[in-house]
Amino acid sequence: MRNPNPKEWQAQDYSQNRIADYKAYNFVDGEGIRNSLYVSGCLFACEGCFNKAVQNFNYGVPFTQELEDQIIEDLRPDYVQGLTLLGGEPFLNTPVCLQVVDRVRQEFGHSKDIWSWSGYTYEELLVDTQDKLELLSKIDILVDGRFELSKRNLNLQFRGSSNQRIIDVAASKAQGKAVIWAKCKDAEESYEQIKKQI
Ligand code: SF4
Repeated sequence: MRNPNPKEWQAQDYSQNRIADYKAYNFVDGEGIRNSLYVSGCLFACEGCFNKAVQNFNYGVPFTQELEDQIIEDLRPDYVQGLTLLGGEPFLNTPVCLQVVDRVRQEFGHSKDIWSWSGYTYEELLVDTQDKLELLSKIDILVDGRFELSKRNLNLQFRGSSNQRIIDVAASKAQGKAVIWAKCKDAEESYEQIKKQI
């Protein structure tokens, strides 16, 4: 696993504006029914990465205006709660992610929520480049941190290892520290505690 210094990795140096996948109407990438955009490229190189192919910034297909329009149309039904950004690394693909997020806000305001996964922690993003801060400021929920194989737990809500957190971005900004999403069911529980409940 690689650990960058603040501002060491910049989207402008790496992003190829490519998409690994897009899945409409799924219910595993956050709360409710969601449309998920998987961007290509990640530098964290976590051992046990769920999909090593998406670490390559040239993987997949170019992001297009047609896909952006499709994402917007797929968000229109009332039963769709929001958009999820995953990777790869969304915060190293900010040109694509900011464009999509801005369009979602323009079309839907805050009636749709936006979740993003990231290998960066919330605290790391706070001291990184302006584009990362901008994307962070425009999303509702951040699922943060590298995937750590030694902390893997397949029972956790929406995350793969126990170091990762589901963070309420607006509440965190208001309180000046990472605030766990109020609906997180297992934030403080160890693997053993969770196992006892099964
Ligand atoms: S942050 Fe995610 S996509 Fe990137 S290497 Fe780690 S597990 Fe893979």
